[in-house]
Amino acid sequence: STGRYLVGLIGEGITASLTPAMHEAEAAELGLDYEYRTFDLIELGRPAGDVAAMLAEARAGGFAAMNITHPCKQLAAELVDELDTDAARLGAVNLVVYGEAGLVGYNTDWMGFRDALANGLPTASLEHVVQVGCGGAGAATAYALLAQGAERLELSDVDPARAEELASRMRTHFPRQAVETSPHDDLAAGIARASGVVHATPLGMLHHPGLAFDPDLLREDAWVADVVYRPLETELVRRSLERGHPVLDGGRMAVGQACASLRIITGTSPDRGRMEHHFRAL
Ligand code: NAD
Repeated sequence: STGRYLVGLIGEGITASLTPAMHEAEAAELGLDYEYRTFDLIELGRPAGDVAAMLAEARAGGFAAMNITHPCKQLAAELVDELDTDAARLGAVNLVVYGEAGLVGYNTDWMGFRDALANGLPTASLEHVVQVGCGGAGAATAYALLAQGAERLELSDVDPARAEELASRMRTHFPRQAVETSPHDDLAAGIARASGVVHATPLGMLHHPGLAFDPDLLREDAWVADVVYRPLETELVRRSLERGHPVLDGGRMAVGQACASLRIITGTSPDRGRMEHHFRAL
């Protein structure tokens, strides 16, 4: 054993998060004394701007690290003393580790999607990927796609400024790859040409039912990845599977994110497959 780990999560609406169970179960398998607590801003009646104070309080309280989620990821990136290179490029931090020299910020969301792709869709063609949705999750998936060598990435969002902003940020970091934006009205044409499609809007969630595009438009050989993981079987996932496409549901990214966080916090090698199995049984 490497001692006792106290870890937390700060964000809004996280009381029902499956992350604590995922971390604690795998840590127990690894023989670690590990406790994971949630700090829901809404429940605590604290504004997002309190994340600085909450990070300081947690450090004083003996926490080893804190995961950060919506709406504090950008703010956290500005608060840490040291930023991991990828987190700096993304401008978002979802993991703060308390090091001897101060707070170190990481982003494991993009790692989660990278590992999800590599493990769940190992033969996926990244020749021409269309991504719908360019918010927080979309920044992580776009970064992972480009880091994995996507040749052409076409970004689309109902809010064109969001797609433009993400595209220009990504072009800076991946100048040799084609990062394009396409108007929301042209989405159907893009979907029909894509070798793979990433869905990164909230559509398909329990409170946001529906589809961001019609799966019947997909090229026969296209793969599909959804970031939505509640439910795991979104309408997009179900209809894409029915059509015979290789599909990655949002659970893989969620597990990948937790696995990477646990690895960085403890310096151990969590078993992704075992975490995946446990997550799907929750
Ligand atoms: P967000 O609000 O930051 O971004 C969503 C984006 O989608 C916005 O830019 C919005 O304009 C765009 N959008 C909405 N409807 C659209 C439509 N019909 N067509 C095109 N674009 C549209 O939200 P987020 O934090 O990125 O979360 C999105 C989803 O991803 C949520 O369901 C969230 O739970 C999920 N998520 C999953 C993981 C994971 O690990 N699997 C991680 C983070 C978020």
